[in-house]
Amino acid sequence: MTAPRGEGIIAGLARGQRRLLGAGIAVGAAGVVTTLAQPALLAGLIQAAGQGRPLTGPIVLLVALFLADAVLSSSQGVLIGRAGENIVRDTRVLLSGRVLRADLAHLDRQRMGDVHTRLVGDTSLMKVSLTQSLAQIILNGMVVLGCVAMMAWTDPGLMLFTLACLGVAAFGGVGLARALRRAALANREDTGAFGADLQRVLTALPTVKGAGAEDAEQERLAGLADRARASGNRVTVLNALFTPVLNVGLQASLAAVLGIGMVRVATGTVDPAAFTAFTMYLFYLVSPLVVVFISIGTHLQGRAALERVDELSRLPQEDAGVGAVAAPAPPVPAGGDRPAVELRDVVFAYGDRPVLDGVSFTVPARGLTALVGPSGAGKTTVFQLIERFYRPSGGSVLLDGRDIARLPTSDVRGRVGYVQQDSVAMTGTLRENIAYGAPDATDNDVREAVELAGLAEVVASLPDGLDTLIGDQGNGLSGGQRQRLCVARALVRRPEVVLLDEATAHLDAEAEGALRDSLRRIARRCAVVAIAHRISTVAEADRIVVLEGGRVRAVGRHTDLLREDGLYRRLATAALVHDPSGEAPG
Ligand code: ADP
Ligand code: MG
Repeated sequence: MTAPRGEGIIAGLARGQRRLLGAGIAVGAAGVVTTLAQPALLAGLIQAAGQGRPLTGPIVLLVALFLADAVLSSSQGVLIGRAGENIVRDTRVLLSGRVLRADLAHLDRQRMGDVHTRLVGDTSLMKVSLTQSLAQIILNGMVVLGCVAMMAWTDPGLMLFTLACLGVAAFGGVGLARALRRAALANREDTGAFGADLQRVLTALPTVKGAGAEDAEQERLAGLADRARASGNRVTVLNALFTPVLNVGLQASLAAVLGIGMVRVATGTVDPAAFTAFTMYLFYLVSPLVVVFISIGTHLQGRAALERVDELSRLPQEDAGVGAVAAPAPPVPAGGDRPAVELRDVVFAYGDRPVLDGVSFTVPARGLTALVGPSGAGKTTVFQLIERFYRPSGGSVLLDGRDIARLPTSDVRGRVGYVQQDSVAMTGTLRENIAYGAPDATDNDVREAVELAGLAEVVASLPDGLDTLIGDQGNGLSGGQRQRLCVARALVRRPEVVLLDEATAHLDAEAEGALRDSLRRIARRCAVVAIAHRISTVAEADRIVVLEGGRVRAVGRHTDLLREDGLYRRLATAALVHDPSGEAPG
């Protein structure tokens, strides 16, 4: 995916709405004309009354203008508002896609709750900034300019004096608007930080409760809420100051202008009717001018949100720069006994934390390969590199003889079925959960996967069989059942390689036996790599890879390794046999 850059994306989406926006501005501009005509008509009415001329005509015209003004300005609001909703919708859809396809290495660093705040809250704020505020600035700006022009036409001298007074008021307004924007950005960041932490707590709620850490977590959240309140208060104060400060400036200007004007009328320099028109335009100018300033304020606040949305749209994408686009991996001849997976001298670090240091091993196209090693050795990381969640900084990972760096991500993940350490079940029926990611799977495919995963008995024991509803996070299933469900989900896509991370850790002896049987069945069809704790599973493996401290320490079969490798012997006799859960999941 070629990623057009930042502000261009949102601006592009806004451009997509140019028809609605243009129509809104055009209708609004017509409304401005009806507004600007009103003082002239009013002044004419007063003059006519003074001269005893009939008033019906001008009054009807004036009422018609009022009505037209109302219709035009509400239509303008609807058009602009719709464009805004479209922009928000498009932005959310685009950003959801960006987040779903983002490179995990970058998403790791971006707290998930903050991503959520940006996608949900900031997009709404941004809408106001891009549509309503801008339209208000343009339309009310037109009213202001129109009034100024009319005033200049009526009394140029007095107009210049008015401008000077208004200029002083405007200067203060701009300064306040700037401060407001900075405060708003800080407040958005603080709100995002609270959201991020809340998300963390919610995801880990059972753990929090189990540890009795509710008070500690609430205190932490309170700290973040305090910070958001403090910056929110700054925004409130600046907002509250904004209008009164402007008003005081404007009222002082008005008083000065009226005073000078009346002196000019008294001395006969200006005609009273002209001065009446001038004064009316002056009054008509004030509230649009205030709206312009307030809108500049909200526009700038919205820009703070826009910046955060833009940042999210620049999230590096998984398939960006994949060689597959420019130079696809050459096809390899079918057949032969190529390994299903090969790691060649793979080096990897999470940020600046080195984890794998030159790992090489192969996985035969059929059979069970066990990956063992102490916690933190890098076993899960190896799987994540094969699945291409992350990219190695050195060396390469090959699937069926082809470097995965040159394959599209979808191709890699289609070939690899990955059952993660903490795979989650989604809401829905058992069947939907198994067919998740394989919408074309037939009933037969699902049943076959269920059979292979050793889940058939479980399904048979459920009242609704495959149509049994399971809750969020797979509630209603035991840990072992959930794991076999995830195995079935991986199998239904007919992968060439199945990766199982600690798939036996949650199982009791009987369930583990069942899974071991099905592993053997699966291993007849494809390559199976299992990170396993149970000696019973490991001992059966056709090949065992011992990983320690990010390096391959030994490769072999159970009996040979028992003899040759001290670490393997220790793992096999202690942790593997007696304490399957002793190894902290890492
Ligand atoms: P294993 O599965 O063998 O227990 P892992 O591959 O999970 O080990 O982890 C290897 C090392 O990498 C550990 O020190 C772990 O703390 C670190 N690590 C794992 N995942 C991340 C991550 N997303 N960010 C930073 N460090 C990580
Ligand atoms: Mg692990």
